Amino acid sequence: MREREGLKTVIHFANREYKEKRPKSVKVFRVKSQTVLKRGILPNLLIKQKGPIEYLIVEDRGDELKIYGFGHNGTFITDYTRDLTLRFLKQLQKSTTLEAQLPRKKVEKVEDPSIKAREEFKKIHHRLNQVLGVTIESYQQSQQSIKFEFCPKCGTKVTIGKFCTNCGFDMSKL
Ligand SMILES: [Zn+2]
Repeated sequence: MREREGLKTVIHFANREYKEKRPKSVKVFRVKSQTVLKRGILPNLLIKQKGPIEYLIVEDRGDELKIYGFGHNGTFITDYTRDLTLRFLKQLQKSTTLEAQLPRKKVEKVEDPSIKAREEFKKIHHRLNQVLGVTIESYQQSQQSIKFEFCPKCGTKVTIGKFCTNCGFDMSKL
């Protein structure tokens, strides 16, 4: 699977950057919308010249962001430095999905809520259904959607309890 190899290559690059340059954070994104990407993430002209970008590495260096662009097979395409703005973060969120991050954070995982919170949610859920007359996502469903964390060795996004798809770390040992 060449796509998987491409992501591996980019994550390897991200790990090295984190070790060598010590930025506040390094994140690896997969581009899901070239159209949105062109509106503000990278200069439009750059993308036209260099071809489609499949992966982005975004390094937070404190006073500025360093951005690297890679093709689908993990080949380096371009890099770019820019200021951190709210508009940029919104565009980034719209046009990409997070694939890996360092330092590892458990931001995507929530603690088991207490029984009381659970009941409280059910009550609110019921009220909302009554008021809106529609079915919104149930508590169980929203729990199921939170099911991954980041590998402590390489920062890759991995399903909780499985092996890291990048480096093979056994995530069930956490
Ligand atoms: Zn790993």
